[in-house]
Amino acid sequence: EQYTYYRPTQVTIDLEAIRNNVRNLKKYGIVSGGVIAVVKADGYGHGDVEVAAAALEAGAVMVSVATPDEAIRLRSKGINGDILVMGPSPITFAKKAAELGITLMVAEVGWLRQVLDESAEFEKQLKIHVKIDSGMGRIGLRDAGALQALISLVECSDQFVLDGIFTHFSCADEDRPYRTEEQFKLFMELVRMLPEKPRLVHASNSAATLLYPQFQLDAVRFGIGLYGIAPSEFVEGQLSFRLEKAMSIESELAFVKKVEANTAISYGGTYETKAAEWIGTIPIGYADGLKRGLRGQEVLIGGERMPIIGTICMDQCMVKLPREMSIGEKVVLIGRQGEEEIRLEEWAKRLDTIPYEIAVSIGRRIPRIYT
Ligand code: PLP
Repeated sequence: EQYTYYRPTQVTIDLEAIRNNVRNLKKYGIVSGGVIAVVKADGYGHGDVEVAAAALEAGAVMVSVATPDEAIRLRSKGINGDILVMGPSPITFAKKAAELGITLMVAEVGWLRQVLDESAEFEKQLKIHVKIDSGMGRIGLRDAGALQALISLVECSDQFVLDGIFTHFSCADEDRPYRTEEQFKLFMELVRMLPEKPRLVHASNSAATLLYPQFQLDAVRFGIGLYGIAPSEFVEGQLSFRLEKAMSIESELAFVKKVEANTAISYGGTYETKAAEWIGTIPIGYADGLKRGLRGQEVLIGGERMPIIGTICMDQCMVKLPREMSIGEKVVLIGRQGEEEIRLEEWAKRLDTIPYEIAVSIGRRIPRIYT
């Protein structure tokens, strides 16, 4: 039976927006090959299983996650499509991955050798995507020698299927194409060493997908864009079509009061009213991802912007109302109300971070409602 939440704070996820963000890549001629939907970190806070299902329904060829456990979770919740683990997996996961038909990233030949040494024969072959470090400096093979050693090992074992090869761009969201161009060139030099082209050669994240269609290869790994968020302001400025926002955060006024001038509000009493003011209380706080640094950020009530005042508490915060308002009045923290919109990007700017970090830190305590 579906649990009904009593607290009115909720995150709404528009799955049609997610589906449209996948479909629009084809519709607007941006991607001609496949879309790999990146659903790591619980679908960037949007819900991994729901987003994966929606993306596959809209035509994604594969979903990708960062960790083995994220992949197992998707399988156990009925995601039957291809799943790629983009981050490192321990040797002990290889057999399980083969059984579950989960594709693993391989960053060095030693890992494959150890899998052969330490695992009994797999019943099913393990599908692998080789990771090339073309300039990100994180994980992956860095030169021809390392790739040659890996190719030789894969060729003399029947345990592995070389299903893909990929790299990751470090600066595709910035206004300096030479970095991305250099990375792509280096990657392609290594790809050409393979005796046979694997099924999926891929490089682009969202930024590269949107800015460098010439680098799309067999598939793109579309993460932040899937959720309707541009990777950076620079990329947003270059877009020829609109990404559809999937996440909104709403609550209600839980308490309303009129206070006299010089009334201290919240921990530390750092906000003091200058005159008589109407103050509202919203049941959302830093345990829900409304970070303390968001003090001063505006929320929408009745289609108007009004500021969060005083210290943000763990579960609640206060807003300065322009006049008396009713308990139960709708509050939009992220999303649209009337003519106004508050976007994750606005929070990110205030917190001097990127919208990715905001999306993944929206607390799991807030229920996700799917529409
Ligand atoms: N590919 C890899 C290897 C990643 O680590 C990520 C996420 O950072 C992505 C693709 C997706 O990136 P984005 O969300 O910028 O599209």
